Amino acid sequence: MGAWAPVAERRTVGEASTLSTTLLRLQELDSELDAIGHRRQHLEERKAMAAASALANETAEAHRRCASEMSTLRSQLKDLESTAGDLQARIAVVKKRMFSSNVAARELSLLDEESSSLEKRLSEIEDAELEAMEALDQAEASYKLARERAEAASVELTTAEVALGQAEAILDQEALAVASGRPEVVASLPEAVVMRYESLRAHLGGVAVAKLEGRRCGGCHLELALAEFEAMRRSSPDALLTCESCGRILLV
Ligand SMILES: [Zn+2]
Repeated sequence: MGAWAPVAERRTVGEASTLSTTLLRLQELDSELDAIGHRRQHLEERKAMAAASALANETAEAHRRCASEMSTLRSQLKDLESTAGDLQARIAVVKKRMFSSNVAARELSLLDEESSSLEKRLSEIEDAELEAMEALDQAEASYKLARERAEAASVELTTAEVALGQAEAILDQEALAVASGRPEVVASLPEAVVMRYESLRAHLGGVAVAKLEGRRCGGCHLELALAEFEAMRRSSPDALLTCESCGRILLV
């Protein structure tokens, strides 16, 4: 005679019916799957990848900023060089005129003035060129450093992605192995029971089935009234008992 013999008086606390055993097995499988899902969500590798991703974004942004700064400075330097070239050309023209034989005193005076003014302007531009060159040197050094950091961060991110993928794959395999036993368990339960089980699980944090621990419900940990407890002990082994407090299926 199996443990599921429908003889109420044969029943004692701790002796489970087939229905109870199967429901408990289903709950164990699902709880295990939930735990694997939780572990998958909270993998150290996932945290490491989030950190690596943040660093990769940060360093890539710094790299872009440095490149843009370098490009601006190069363009400024080019403008300054072009202006200096124009000034030098104009100075050469003025000087040539100044030293020509047919220049009048009045024109010479004007040319001298213009030449001084151009020389002054050229000197300012050359100072600005030197400053721009120094700034460009620094920008190029910063750019090189930023590029190295961005490249290193990118390598780290790839490594972190691979590590996460591997860790996930291990857990997915584990989940697959656990889940493979589920259809058989579900098929051996009445459809209405499975529906009730799924509905309870959805509303009670994934735990639909609780064991009776002494007089307490193993789900909500509240103590059953003595009369209720006694009634449960006398109930048919295949009757689905309900905790009055939390609504979970109680296994005695
Ligand atoms: Zn309960």
